[in-house]
Amino acid sequence: MAEQKLRILALGAHADDLELLCAGTLARWAKAGHHIVMATTTWCKFGSYELSLEECSRLRHAEAAESAALIGAEYRALMVPDDGVDPYDPEQQRQVTDLIRQTRPDVIVTHAPTDYHTDHCNVTELVKWTGPVLGIPQYETDSEALDYNPALYFMDTLNGRYFEPTNYVDISQTIETKLAMMQCFRSQIGFLKQYFDFDVLEQIETVARYRGIQAGVRYAEAFQRYGGAGWGNLTIHYLP
Ligand SMILES: [Zn+2]
Repeated sequence: MAEQKLRILALGAHADDLELLCAGTLARWAKAGHHIVMATTTWCKFGSYELSLEECSRLRHAEAAESAALIGAEYRALMVPDDGVDPYDPEQQRQVTDLIRQTRPDVIVTHAPTDYHTDHCNVTELVKWTGPVLGIPQYETDSEALDYNPALYFMDTLNGRYFEPTNYVDISQTIETKLAMMQCFRSQIGFLKQYFDFDVLEQIETVARYRGIQAGVRYAEAFQRYGGAGWGNLTIHYLP
């Protein structure tokens, strides 16, 4: 994998999901020269009690773009309504299909179907929905149909529960980058601490250490390959 340059698409529901759940791996892949696209599905309007909805959304996407830039990743935003991700909405199906066709990923990383937030699970379902149509030219979007099957991986759940990993990535060398990426979300970190007593940086360190213990390394991120028909089988197993 290290010799072959790959294209990776990571799709999270909200700005900061990717930083929490797979940024150490993305940083590692970026370092190895792979092309990374980090994408957010929703508007992200609901993360503040002080800012207007529009201001919150603008700020979150600016922070997400800043984080992506730290590893030289492209940043995309689909702007689906918050708490409104809907795998049965034809427009959202088309948007996600087009994002995948446009970015032509070898590997797609998205949420686990067992994660805590309905938006997360619905993003999973949306991505799974695209599987059968990605390669069908009669299902038209702005971008050309794919002529190959990307591999699909689910990233860990927020607290590591209801998730049985099939693959671990050693992020011992990139956990500092992961934390620096999370720290771009200045508005979010303060909000979570103030109103929910949730220390997001501590959470990252703790879950990475826990997955590291399972993988036999200092810090790791956990993934699960989706083996449904029509998806690729490229392995992301990446321990030293
Ligand atoms: Zn989220």
